[in-house]
Amino acid sequence: MAEIVIAGIRISPDHFINGERVASAQTFEDISPIDQSLLGHISAGSSAEVDAAALAARQAFPTWAALGPQGRGVYLRRLAEVIERRVEDLAIVETTDNGSLLEASRLRVMKRGAHNIRYFAEYAEKLQGEEWDTPPANAHNRVVYHPAGVTALITPWNAPFMLSTWKVGPALAAGNTVVLKPPEWAPLTCSLLADFAAEAGLPPGVFNVVQGIGEEAGAALVAHPGVRRISFTGSVETAQKIGAAAARNLTPVSFELGGKSPLVVFADADLELALRNMLEQYDNAGQVCLAGTRLLVEETVADDLLERMKTGAGQLRLGDPRDPQTQVGPLIHPQHLKRVDGFVQRAIQEGARLVYGGRVSPQLGGLYYEPTLFVDPPAGAEILQKEVFGPVLTLQTFKDEAEAIALANNTPYGLAATIFTQNEARARRVAEAIEAGLVWVNCFYVRDLAQPFGGAKQSGIGREGGKWSFDFYCELKNITHRHNTFV
Ligand code: NAD
Repeated sequence: MAEIVIAGIRISPDHFINGERVASAQTFEDISPIDQSLLGHISAGSSAEVDAAALAARQAFPTWAALGPQGRGVYLRRLAEVIERRVEDLAIVETTDNGSLLEASRLRVMKRGAHNIRYFAEYAEKLQGEEWDTPPANAHNRVVYHPAGVTALITPWNAPFMLSTWKVGPALAAGNTVVLKPPEWAPLTCSLLADFAAEAGLPPGVFNVVQGIGEEAGAALVAHPGVRRISFTGSVETAQKIGAAAARNLTPVSFELGGKSPLVVFADADLELALRNMLEQYDNAGQVCLAGTRLLVEETVADDLLERMKTGAGQLRLGDPRDPQTQVGPLIHPQHLKRVDGFVQRAIQEGARLVYGGRVSPQLGGLYYEPTLFVDPPAGAEILQKEVFGPVLTLQTFKDEAEAIALANNTPYGLAATIFTQNEARARRVAEAIEAGLVWVNCFYVRDLAQPFGGAKQSGIGREGGKWSFDFYCELKNITHRHNTFV
């Protein structure tokens, strides 16, 4: 297949299997959300390519596992170095492919890719298996960590490089081999990751990429009997299908899914800080799983904050994500725009009051959707229950702490929550009462690789980060021996 060239950077549109580029007869189109131009045709994998990649990963597994954490660490550090060297290239390719803001990508997101790999390499090297005595049995226990085998990693389009390395790091550091299925709406930076793996000298078959459509390549991968772990980040609907396929082989799954997270502002909060964070929820055009899309504001300060939100949103700069002044970029794809706008139109029909936005920018057209706010949608409205994954927020008011908690918990999701208050006791109470995997108080999106990351309720199964990622990719074995029985 013809190589794709963006800003002089060459990207293969093909799979990476057993250390080699492999093309498929079938392809799919990759378009840029910036101007909907065609970037190229990508190889569309089927079960044949998935079988080949799973076989390569299976064959590479024993040697990779036998290297041990230190041996693998040499390769993984080299991989992290290549990523660091190519941060600028990664940023421009990902921005062109998925429309995320270039400045944030260059300065933060892509560097995190290198950090993901290095952190878990070091984690594996330092890991000491737990040991303890069981005195009544005069016995000793020791836990050892074995790699699970071939892992299937599936990622979404909103941050494909960062989210892929966040899975590839612990999977490889623990001694597994990988088949990565990148998102079809933004497949390019994962293809670069394959080049980087080759440059870092990873043995053939240790890291494989199969490009393709979710329902074909993704479905074939998660149904593969040779796969011993499935780590998936994406939507609830896809997770339900993957869970059903995984059940047939009893393959363990880790699911990081969507959210409808509350951002709760109490009257005693630093309102300037709260406002800044409320406006930040439009970052990446709201295509952020963690976004606090339901603003819950204490009644007594609601009118004031609403006025300030209107002014603040009116000043946000919507535009080309390559422009450093831009604060809100485009939606990823025409199909996604249709979906987002569908939510907006149904919210209006259900009686939610549209305060601003609710349309494609008349100046910019294309996939540029205006930051949107609804006030007081009727209880039970779809816009309060379903993830939009676009620049669409709702604002509801509450009278007291109990009502704030009840509203915060009133969705099927439980990914994250953000609370603004200057009362420490209240912050503790509310943080503990909200059903979510992640709670931020007087801050938003503070991430640390050692934190457990993931969602409650329909926002996921399991946690990633630190020991939680690592444990998922391992088979734990407990070895018990009786004391004083060895000669
Ligand atoms: P999606 O579920 O449509 O697709 C995600 C991935 O799954 C893609 O690579 C896709 O090709 C693949 N896929 C689709 N159908 C499949 C199938 N039947 N079998 C196997 N794989 C299949 O999600 P999306 O639209 O790419 O991403 C948006 C969603 O991801 C949102 O819900 C968002 O909240 C969520 N997300 C969650 C997190 C998190 O950490 N919790 C992070 C980012 C995004």
